[in-house]
Amino acid sequence: MTDVQTRRGMLIGGEWVAAEEGGEREILNPATSEAVAAVPEATRADTRRAIAAARRAFDEGPWPHTLPQERSRLLNRVADLLERDEAELARLETLDTGKTLVESHADMQDIAGTFRYYGALIATHGGDINPVPDSSLSMTVYEPIGVVGMISPWNYPLLQISWKIAPAIAAGCTFVAKPSELTPLTTIKVCELLQEAGLPDGVANVVLGAGAETGAELSENPDVDFVSFTGGVVSGRKVAESASESIKRVALELGGKNPNLVFADADFDVAVDYALQAAFFHAGQVCSAGSRLLVEDSIHDRFVDAILERADRIKLGFGAEDETEMGPVISAEHREKIEGYIELAKEEGAELRLGGGRPEGEKFENGFFVEPTVFTGVEPEMRIAKEEIFGPVLTIERFTSEEEAVRNANATDYGLAGAVWTTDMLRANRVARGLKLGTVWVNDFHPYYPQAPWGGYKKSGSGRELGEAGLHEYQETKHISVNLAPESSGWFGNV
Ligand code: NAD
Repeated sequence: MTDVQTRRGMLIGGEWVAAEEGGEREILNPATSEAVAAVPEATRADTRRAIAAARRAFDEGPWPHTLPQERSRLLNRVADLLERDEAELARLETLDTGKTLVESHADMQDIAGTFRYYGALIATHGGDINPVPDSSLSMTVYEPIGVVGMISPWNYPLLQISWKIAPAIAAGCTFVAKPSELTPLTTIKVCELLQEAGLPDGVANVVLGAGAETGAELSENPDVDFVSFTGGVVSGRKVAESASESIKRVALELGGKNPNLVFADADFDVAVDYALQAAFFHAGQVCSAGSRLLVEDSIHDRFVDAILERADRIKLGFGAEDETEMGPVISAEHREKIEGYIELAKEEGAELRLGGGRPEGEKFENGFFVEPTVFTGVEPEMRIAKEEIFGPVLTIERFTSEEEAVRNANATDYGLAGAVWTTDMLRANRVARGLKLGTVWVNDFHPYYPQAPWGGYKKSGSGRELGEAGLHEYQETKHISVNLAPESSGWFGNV
């Protein structure tokens, strides 16, 4: 085992503990398949202990009653610590996920920004006074929802869990976080930082382990008030089913099959540049990856040639090396899934124009690498145009009218994000309104902001993260109505 050694791993009620039954899991570097750490593997009993600690901290602890300004200060302290430790966090994220160090650093800056945003929002975000007659006072107030179960995926380990942790502690909740079993290292580290920032014991808890054990316990346990889940549709559906038993609130951030529409009047070179970024960033393992490119017929062939020419030059390698542009995919199992889709694309009649295999060379022997892959001749009814591949595979379709472009873009079960490229702003607005997506970018791809809501239509999920909506997920809304001039109503028994 190299680099990171065995870590304490689980935080329960303010104590760092091993799993009760002594279970451990090795964490692999996907670029080399070497074990880089061993962490505890929780059982349901460990998870129940963490839930009980979070329950106690919510029901008896000071945190839900702390002044919003105090919570705001803590969130800002966490942001300071994230910035102080950015280099270590980025290194751990790259080790865990294989993504490039540049991407990991960008993630860490966004995460610090998210903590600062919720720090600012909670300090200024009160309730509302509603317009009612002068003899009454009607107030809408927001209260912390309670104990939150947080379940997150492996592609953006710390970013996704931070989109939950920051608003949850801003709202005054307590939580049990369960990161993906493949990528727990940065979540462990951020919980250390929460302690260092002075968060009271029991507010933050982390358990590590498989979804079917730890994740399922968080979804089922009636002492959890809200489950915030980010991951795939299959697991998301299970979480929603289990949570329905205790009628707990659930937010689901699921997959995407995100269309990138390029019209003939777009700035050609910029659209090519962003189409590559949309598809191959983090080896396509991004929920909002622009893996479906739809190009207007009149520029289609020229656009494809430009994509192929540049995609062929993408430098694969280890995320920690400066020259690397694209790292491996997360695991051997995930690579097989991607390769299955590449075979399916061929069977469905799409034309393989680039890649499709594993890169050659000693350097790539042990890691889970897939070449940047491009298919043309893709039709909207093919499975490869509808299903999430979650790898460096770009499918290209052609369209001849705006109406056809929007219809085909909407022809999947997903509705997370997508983009339109055109210099005609009237058209950009029409298309943006027509797309059934939670986020539409115009002449851009991928930016998100802590200030703006993030989430999906259709099977991409329910609920919203980030922005004010992302804070309200962690709050109950209460109406308090005060009669300022109580008088007998004489409604009953007065005759
Ligand atoms: P996954 O669904 O396999 O796992 C996600 C998490 O759920 C993991 O922590 C896993 O342990 C847990 N889990 C698995 N089965 C469970 C169960 N029965 N009960 C409770 N928890 C369970 O997803 P993944 O492979 O880690 O991540 C990739 C998926 O996440 C992709 O579909 C991607 O699009 C999606 N994603 C969505 C967003 C978004 O913002 N919408 C962001 C990132 C990733």
